[in-house]
Amino acid sequence: MINFAYLPASAVETALEQIGPGPGSTTAAGFGKFIAGGTNLLDLMKENVMRPARLVDINPLALNSIEALPDGGLRLGALARNADTAYHPLVQRGYPLLAAAILAGASAQIRNMASNGGNLLQRTRCYYFYDTGVPCNKRVPGSGCPAISGLARLHAILGASEQCIATHPSDMCVALRALDAVVQVQSPRGGRAIAMADFHRLPGGQPDIDTTLAHDELITSIDLPPPAPGFAAHSAYLKLRDRASYAFALVSVAAALDIGADGLVKEARIALGGVAHKPWRDPEAEALLVGQPASPAAFAEAAKHLLRGAQAQGVGPGSNAFKIPMAQRAVVRALEMALAGTVANTVNNDNDNDNDNDNAEDAP
Ligand SMILES: Cc1cc2nc3c(=O)[nH]c(=O)nc-3n(C[C@H](O)[C@H](O)[C@H](O)COP(=O)(O)OP(=O)(O)OC[C@H]3O[C@@H](n4cnc5c(N)ncnc54)[C@H](O)[C@@H]3O)c2cc1C
Ligand code: SF4
Repeated sequence: MINFAYLPASAVETALEQIGPGPGSTTAAGFGKFIAGGTNLLDLMKENVMRPARLVDINPLALNSIEALPDGGLRLGALARNADTAYHPLVQRGYPLLAAAILAGASAQIRNMASNGGNLLQRTRCYYFYDTGVPCNKRVPGSGCPAISGLARLHAILGASEQCIATHPSDMCVALRALDAVVQVQSPRGGRAIAMADFHRLPGGQPDIDTTLAHDELITSIDLPPPAPGFAAHSAYLKLRDRASYAFALVSVAAALDIGADGLVKEARIALGGVAHKPWRDPEAEALLVGQPASPAAFAEAAKHLLRGAQAQGVGPGSNAFKIPMAQRAVVRALEMALAGTVANTVNNDNDNDNDNDNAEDAP
């Protein structure tokens, strides 16, 4: 049996004291981890992928509210559950793209437990990462990456390195990236704000490090800027996956359009999930749409630009080459869906999956 200490935190300051040293610590105390819903961390502990010596339970902290900000934006508490966030009236009204992305993920039970902060920090679903019987540079730096010459179906086509080709599996984060969210954190050194663009990192030569968050930094909230005028009416989240529900994205697209009365695009947002170590966005591709009629031809140009650096990984039947054309077509389809108008996504529809999967079946 592998023992660990369980430390409930009564206040943010206490949690920051209790967390102690991080992974790599050689002290007898070992390293600590915050635990929220536990839907990812406990799985990793059961699989022996992560072995924290201390779990600091942050659930008692008052970080579960969702409230309007004075600038017209919205603050999502780090401990607000994914389900409560997706169904919150202010999210449904102002940020339906975020609601749709959250509801495309996991299952109703998991979304009831999963927290917003934990969603950002969930780890890759690379099969080899979870299998402690094989090497993995993310789990054991320097040990190798079997995915590169193996099964890479869920893996990256953009931004990969020779060390790691893993993807970030979150749906919520793809929408947060499209919406320019900002992550608020606290540590013993004080508070800081991290733009979503800078929160997750590419693997490079250090694939064991997923984000720019320090070990002792606690996420307190995720802030959304005021929504652009047209986004609430013209947004869509399209998720393509192997199973109709309860499966991670092969490719997903968060798309939002602000369209003028003249039919020309004033602003566009396109973020991709399932294709890189972080949600993928390219302002150049979005700029190609600005001033253009919102048309399939313009969408196809933007999609081509967005995928211009894409490279297949894996070998033989394990290759993910299919994801490159799939992602291009998914971008076009998601933009067409956004143009047609946001579909209200207020019902928990795990059984019929109308909102997320009909679209998926139509796309590639
Ligand atoms: C079967 C299954 C299917 C899933 N399918 C999907 C899917 O399709 N799409 C999708 O997006 N997700 C999916 N998920 C993942 C799920 O969304 C995440 O497991 C969940 O969001 C993690 O949140 P949590 O609160 O349970 O995090 P925990 O497991 O408690 O923590 C995860 C990590 O975050 C850290 N952490 C948590 N909160 C904070 C904080 N406030 N500050 C600093 N660190 C913190 C923890 O230390 C830990 O490292 C699935 C999960 C399962 C088990
Ligand atoms: S892709 Fe990354 S996580 Fe997967 S085996 Fe390679 S190093 Fe490990």
